[in-house]
Amino acid sequence: MARPTALRTALQVKPGSRMRLAKLDADTTMGLEKASAVAATQVQMERLRDLQDRLWAEARQSVLVVLQGIDAAGKDGTIAKVMEAFNPQGCPVSSFKVPTAEELAHDFLWRVHKRTPGKGEIGIFNRSHYEDVLVVRVHGLAPRRVWSKRYDQINAFERTLAEGGTTIVKFFLAIDRDEQRKRFQDRYDDPRKRWKFKVGDLDERKLWDDYQAAFDEALTRTSTPWAPWYVIPSNRNWLRNLAVSTILADTIAGLRPAYPKPPDLPPDLVIE
Ligand code: AMP
Ligand code: MG
Repeated sequence: MARPTALRTALQVKPGSRMRLAKLDADTTMGLEKASAVAATQVQMERLRDLQDRLWAEARQSVLVVLQGIDAAGKDGTIAKVMEAFNPQGCPVSSFKVPTAEELAHDFLWRVHKRTPGKGEIGIFNRSHYEDVLVVRVHGLAPRRVWSKRYDQINAFERTLAEGGTTIVKFFLAIDRDEQRKRFQDRYDDPRKRWKFKVGDLDERKLWDDYQAAFDEALTRTSTPWAPWYVIPSNRNWLRNLAVSTILADTIAGLRPAYPKPPDLPPDLVIE
C-alpha cells in the first residue's frame, strides 16, 4: 500500500514542470489492489469527516477544491463519493455551466470569486475558472489574445485567495479516450444514466486532441506552490477515490484545524 505522502508526491504537477497527459497511464492501479484501496479510502473518509468538523468549528481558514476533467471523467462521481465525508453545512458545491448573459457581461473571474469558500468552509468547484482557458480556447469563444493572458490572471487570483487564508487543491481527473467511449456508451445504454447523455458530448469528443493540448498548457502553467494541481489517473473509480480522499485529507491535516477553546468558561461546570 502506497503511503499517503507517496500518493501526494507522485501525483502532483511540480510547479515549473511541463505536463504531458499523453505520457500518463490513466488505467494504472499504481500497484494497488481494489479491495485494500476501498478499505483505505474508508479510513481517509473518516479522517476527512474529523478534519472538516474541526475546520468548521475553528472558522478561521478555508479550503477550495477544484475539480476539472473531460466529459465523463468522474467529476460528479467524485463529489458524490468523496465529499460525502463532509457535513453539507459548511461545504458549498458550485457547478459552473455555460455562462449566463449577466456572467458574460463581467470579467471571467466574477462568477467564480462570488462562490469562493468563507472561513471554516470547504468549497467545491465542479468545473471552474479553468473553463475559460479550456472550452473557451478549444471553441474560440474568446480570441487568443484574451484567453492567453488568463493563465497569469488565474495564478494571481489564486494567490490572492491563498494569501487571504484559503488553501487551494486542484484535481484533474484523467481518463483516456477509450474509457470515455465506454462511459458514454454506458450512459446511453443505462436508463438511469441516459439523462446525462448529450449528443453534443459526441461533438466535444471529436475535439479530444485539442482538449488534451489545452489541459496540458493549463496544468503546466497554473500548478503553483500556492495552488498545486494533482493529476489523478481516473479510469478506475476506486483508485480515483483513494487518491482524491488521501490528498485532500493530507492537505487539510496540514492546516492543523483545531476546536476553539471558549474563553471565560468556569471550570468544572455542572449543568443542573
Ligand atoms: P456539465 O458539467 O456536463 O453540466 O456541462 C457544463 C457545460 O458548461 C460544459 O460543456 C462546459 O464546457 C460548459 N462551460 C462551463 N464553463 C464555461 C465557460 N466559461 N464558457 C463556456 N462554456 C462553459
Ligand atoms: Mg457533461
